[in-house]
Amino acid sequence: MNTKNSEKLYKKGCENLVGAVNSPVRAFASVGGNPLFIDKAKGAYIKDVDGNKYIDLVLSYGPMILGHRNKKVEKAVTKAIKKGTSFGASTNAEIKLAKIVCDAFPGMDKVRFVNSGTEAVLSAIRLARAHTGKDKIIKFSGCYHGHMDAMLVAAGSGLATLSLPGSKGVPAQSVENTLIAEYNNLESVKAHFDKHDDIAGVILEPVTGNMGVVQPTDDFIKGLRALTKEKNALLICDEVMTGFRSKFGGAQELVGVEADITCLGKVIGGGFPVGAYGARNEIMENVAPLGGMYQAGTLSGNPIAMAAGISTLTELKNQNPYEKFNTVAEKLEEVLLSSAKKYGVDLKVNRFGSMINPFFTNKEVTNFADAQTSDTDKFAKFFWAMIENGVFLPPSQFEAWFLSTTITIKELKKLEEAIDKSMLVVG
Ligand code: PLP
Repeated sequence: MNTKNSEKLYKKGCENLVGAVNSPVRAFASVGGNPLFIDKAKGAYIKDVDGNKYIDLVLSYGPMILGHRNKKVEKAVTKAIKKGTSFGASTNAEIKLAKIVCDAFPGMDKVRFVNSGTEAVLSAIRLARAHTGKDKIIKFSGCYHGHMDAMLVAAGSGLATLSLPGSKGVPAQSVENTLIAEYNNLESVKAHFDKHDDIAGVILEPVTGNMGVVQPTDDFIKGLRALTKEKNALLICDEVMTGFRSKFGGAQELVGVEADITCLGKVIGGGFPVGAYGARNEIMENVAPLGGMYQAGTLSGNPIAMAAGISTLTELKNQNPYEKFNTVAEKLEEVLLSSAKKYGVDLKVNRFGSMINPFFTNKEVTNFADAQTSDTDKFAKFFWAMIENGVFLPPSQFEAWFLSTTITIKELKKLEEAIDKSMLVVG
């Protein structure tokens, strides 16, 4: 496969960009080799600067749920641009998107838009502290909540990919109020509550994508809800990745829990920088200008991003692709497992709606420790074989693959063939 132009751009990019990227996981560090540089994308496909075309299962790490260049989104964005790109004052588009989002979450009366998932989480944590008057936050190892100081402990995603336990440059004081528990282990949460009486909240991905896909057990998620209520702590569901991905609304509904605060991002911006946090009135009333919790943003609620969000969510509502996602993911799981069996590869597959990924291990994956038993060298081999066979995957064992509405029978067939050929290389 010819990737000469990507190689050239990588060298050139290294001169003025750190590792030629603006987000570390794009550097292909854990799979080796040069990162691909992208020229353009349409529908289910993405094309690199050498003209190689791939079925895209990265989808910008989730946002592009309608595939690339959806006509309705493109039209809405183009129309919005012609009215002006940023005003520093409110627009009707913000109200419209807020209504769509709040209507989709039972426990959300009000929402505040920000510019990224990281901002959504850091604001949600500040809000939990403002509302409860307490400081400590419990997070789970392997869950990634963006790159704010307090959450860069035992984080999954890019840190797991680079084998980093945390980040340099984070002062000890910034994480002294962060308590780490184990996903799907309620006892590990109880132990913190037994020891500390100043816990403001518990944050989790209601279904994880950042250690790979892991679903919560019923006992764990229901127990977490009951425990946080009992202890007057808030339950924060970080649905930056899962929001509108597996149902219209949140994964929390599918796993049978209602959060006090919900964080959103990715899909709600339709490919533009949008994050959000929302909750019941009594909680949101803490936020300025109604309350004393300050949080602001020059570009928050940007009209172009709002237009992309409104059209993306409207399209999703109209298409209702969620059943189809399950069918496609089920088929992919079948092929992954049958090819692995055929070539003698240890493999487990976890999936949830339009999120799926294989773990190269023989252990059921229910938490981060399980995920880390995966053979990342085998994943790297599989990754490059998939590239050779025309499929663009996240370059990490610890990231979910994403499906878009543009996957048809044709793409499914190509994916099945690519998986089988790539598993042969691993076996
Ligand atoms: N929370 C979750 C669950 C995420 O998956 C991510 C990003 O992948 C974030 C927060 C951070 O979002 P952003 O990268 O937009 O800052």
